[in-house]
Amino acid sequence: MPSPDPLLDDPEISALVARELERQNTGLQLIASENFTSRAVMAATGSVLTNKYSEGYPGKRYYGGNRVIDEAEELARQRARDLFGADHANVQPHSGANANLAVYMAVLKPGDTVLGMRLDQGGHLTHGSPANWSGQLYRFVSYGVTESDERIDYDQVAQLAKAERPRLIVAGATAYPRVIEPEPFRRIAEEVGALFMFDAAHVAGLVAGGAHPNPVPHADIVTFTTHKTLRGPRGGAILCRAELAPAIDKAVFPGLQGGPLEHVIAAKAVAFREAMAPGFTAYARNVVDNARALAAALAGEGFRLVSGGTDNHLLLVDLRSFDPDLTGKVAQELLDEAGITLNRNQIPGDPRSPFVTSGLRLGTAAVTTAGMGEQEMAQIASLIARVLRSKGEEGAAVREDVAVLCSKFTPYPELGPTGA
Ligand SMILES: *Cc1c(COP(=O)(O)O)cnc(C)c1O
Repeated sequence: MPSPDPLLDDPEISALVARELERQNTGLQLIASENFTSRAVMAATGSVLTNKYSEGYPGKRYYGGNRVIDEAEELARQRARDLFGADHANVQPHSGANANLAVYMAVLKPGDTVLGMRLDQGGHLTHGSPANWSGQLYRFVSYGVTESDERIDYDQVAQLAKAERPRLIVAGATAYPRVIEPEPFRRIAEEVGALFMFDAAHVAGLVAGGAHPNPVPHADIVTFTTHKTLRGPRGGAILCRAELAPAIDKAVFPGLQGGPLEHVIAAKAVAFREAMAPGFTAYARNVVDNARALAAALAGEGFRLVSGGTDNHLLLVDLRSFDPDLTGKVAQELLDEAGITLNRNQIPGDPRSPFVTSGLRLGTAAVTTAGMGEQEMAQIASLIARVLRSKGEEGAAVREDVAVLCSKFTPYPELGPTGA
């Protein structure tokens, strides 16, 4: 008789999956770039579509047998276009980083100048880090936030654009708690004859749910990940104006990637459909309301919020107001022991290195999916403060309180021990 869960045939991996499920079900998941996908998304990811080779695009494949796959990928492209109102969608990028590199490959030559956000003020590795291909292949010049209100300095963006004449201006961030307005970037790009790319990796779900402005009407190209606020499978996608479509498609394949992950593309299609359903608007609104509530509660515990609060799903905490000697690294480790998962993060003007940091980044996309509301946000803030105020002394006691809280908001209550 076949075992009811085929993964049990591999005792080592199934045990690890079971432990990870337990961790996700019983701890507080506050990593701002994470979420809990639906069972439908997971089912598509685990489907027979993983078996098919389909290099190329719908109707233009290098292998036979792709009639069904073509329909699945076309459905994913159509849904992505409909969800964001875009001319063209490429749903093949394996990740957000690949999506960005494909765009650069499509519209830039090595050595071209690009404007992007400073990495120590919220920009992503793929916005010109010297450790990333983007920074090695292209000449990135960085803008940042103002000292006074810690929001994007649009005057600086305009000045740098005039002085540097970039070929491309990149907006978007990985650790920025405020709305990024697409229109000022659009105007600046037009003034200097640059292309404008909006990296919506973090906020795609907030855009889809109508909680944030849609960059698509303003940007030449929009990249995003499907696994952050959008709550789909791990992956990336690119939206662009019709004229850019051939160059973008060529850059993704054969430029950068080989065979597409059609099981993941099908799962992206599932997630796009879920994001079009009426409930997703309420989800996006709840994510932002929860982030505001968490920010207010943390401020009440003595933490300074970078920029004073949040407009999106994430917040940056400056630990120095709470305890000048507490680093992000130590705080992250103490909270981890208590079942509270988040990441250390540099804050604007951070005197400490990216490995140590003076800040923490927290997000509410996952806990909101699990069903938590503003009341739970207040509880989370007080649990965090208890751990950090006691310098970890109360970690074990808080771990128990976290388990009690999470038992009422289990993301996957119905899954068996190995996730099947
Ligand atoms: C997460 C992120 C990416 C990269 O996504 P991966 O799927 O991890 O490669 C790119 N840009 C921004 C702004 C991000 O936050």
